[in-house]
Amino acid sequence: MTDSAAPSPDPEAAEALADRVRDGDLRFHELEDHADADTATAARRLLVGEQSGASLDAVGDYAFPAEQADPNIENMIGAAQIPMGVVGPVTINVEETSTSNQGAAHSGDDGGALSGEHYLPLATTEGALLASVNRGLSVVDAAGGARARVTKSGMTRAPVFSVADVVEAEALVSWVRDNEPALKEAAEETTSHGELLDVTPYVVGNSVFLRFRYDTKDAMGMNMATIATQAACDVVEGETTASLVALSGNLCTDKKPAAINAVEGRGRSVTADVTIPRKVVEDRLHTTPEAIAEINTRKNLVGSAKAGSLGFNAHVANVVAAMFLATGQDAAQVVEGSNAITTAEVQSGDLYVSVSLASLEVGTVGGGTKLPTQAEGLDIIGVRGSGDPAGANADALAEAIAVGSLAGELSLLAALGSRHLSSAHEELGR
Ligand code: NAP
Repeated sequence: MTDSAAPSPDPEAAEALADRVRDGDLRFHELEDHADADTATAARRLLVGEQSGASLDAVGDYAFPAEQADPNIENMIGAAQIPMGVVGPVTINVEETSTSNQGAAHSGDDGGALSGEHYLPLATTEGALLASVNRGLSVVDAAGGARARVTKSGMTRAPVFSVADVVEAEALVSWVRDNEPALKEAAEETTSHGELLDVTPYVVGNSVFLRFRYDTKDAMGMNMATIATQAACDVVEGETTASLVALSGNLCTDKKPAAINAVEGRGRSVTADVTIPRKVVEDRLHTTPEAIAEINTRKNLVGSAKAGSLGFNAHVANVVAAMFLATGQDAAQVVEGSNAITTAEVQSGDLYVSVSLASLEVGTVGGGTKLPTQAEGLDIIGVRGSGDPAGANADALAEAIAVGSLAGELSLLAALGSRHLSSAHEELGR
C-alpha cells in the first residue's frame, strides 16, 4: 500500500447509499454529493453488480483515492487496468561524440527537447507489440540513437458563425484580419499559459469558420483553447453581424480523421529519424536496406494511397495508443495522433528511416496526466508536469512517442522483409 492507495470504503455506508438509489431518493450521478468518492464508487458497483450479475471485484480493486479521478470521470465504479511495460532504453538526440547517457527532458544542446537514454512506457493488451518495438529500438540504439524534433506546434479550435450572405462573410474575414490583437487579448485573458498564435478564416456559403490556433505550452490544450475561443467569439459577436452557431465547427478537427490535421498539423507536428548501417540491418533485422525501402514504398506509400488512407504508415497507432494510455493522454485523439507518414530509403548503402506525425496532441499537465499510474508513466520519460521553459516537457513527450513509433515501423517493416511476421505473432501474441 502506498500513500495514494484507495481507502477501503465502509461496506455498510455503501449499502445504505445504494438503498437510497433503490428507493428512488438519489440518482446515480448524485452519490458523491452524499458520501466520499470511494463510498459512492462502491455503492454503484453494488447496484451495477445486482442489475447485471457481473462481479466487479477486480474493477473495484484500484490503487488511488477515487476523488483523485473526479475531474476525469463521472459515475465511477472503479478502474480498468491495462498492463504496462517498457521498451528501450533508447538513445535520443545525442550526438555520437557525446558520452552522456543520463536521461533528461530539457532543451538538448543539439536542439531536441528530449535527450539522453530513455525507457518508453507502453500500456496495451496486444501481445508482441512491446517485443516488436523493443527490437526496433535496439536496432535504433545500435545505430547510435534516433533524432527527433517538433517542427510545428499549435492546438486549434474552429467555431462556426452564420452570416447573411457572402458579402457579410467577406466583411467578417476582413474584420478578423484587422482585429486579431483584440481577439488575442480576449482569448489570453482566460489563461496564464496559453497564447493565441493566429486565426484562419474559411468561408462556405453563409457559414464562416475561424480556426484559432494556440501555443498551449505543456497542456494538450483542448479545454484551454475552448475556453479562450469562447471569449474571443464573444468579441466577434459583439463587434460584427456574425452569430455564433457552434463553438466547435468540426474544422478544428478533434477526434475525427481529417485532412486538415494532416496538412496543417494540430498539437505537435513531430518527426523522428535514424540512419542504420547496412551491417546492423543485415545482422539484427535479417534483411537489407533495399528490401525495407521497397516494402515501405509499395506498402506504406502505394498501398495507403490506393486505400485512400490518411496515414501512410504500418502501425503507428499501436505505439501512439499504448504510450497515450501509459502517460494519461486523451485516448480518442489516437485518431489524429496516428496520422503519420513513414519514409525509408537507401543512402550510401545504409538505411534511412523516418516517421512524421502531423497531429500529435499531447500534454504533461492537465487531463489524465495527474492520475497516479499515468503520472508515473510520465516520470519514466522524465516529463511529468511543467517543463522549463513551459512547453518543453510536452515537446519531449512528443519526441519520445515519435521515436517509439519509428522503432515500431522499423521492426514491422523488417519482419515483413524477413517474412517473420506471422511466426512472431504466433509465438508471442497467442
Ligand atoms: P486542463 O486540465 O483543462 O488544463 C490544464 C491547465 O493547466 C491549463 O489551462 C493551465 O492553466 C494549467 N497549466 C499549469 N502549468 C502549465 C504548463 N506548464 N503549460 C500549460 N498549462 C499549464 O487541460 P487541457 O490540456 O486544456 O485539456 C485537456 C483535457 O481536455 C483532457 O481531459 C481532454 O480529455 C479534454 N478535452 C476537452 C475537449 C473540449 O472540447 N473541451 C475536447 C477534447 C478533450 P491556465 O490556462 O490557467 O494557465
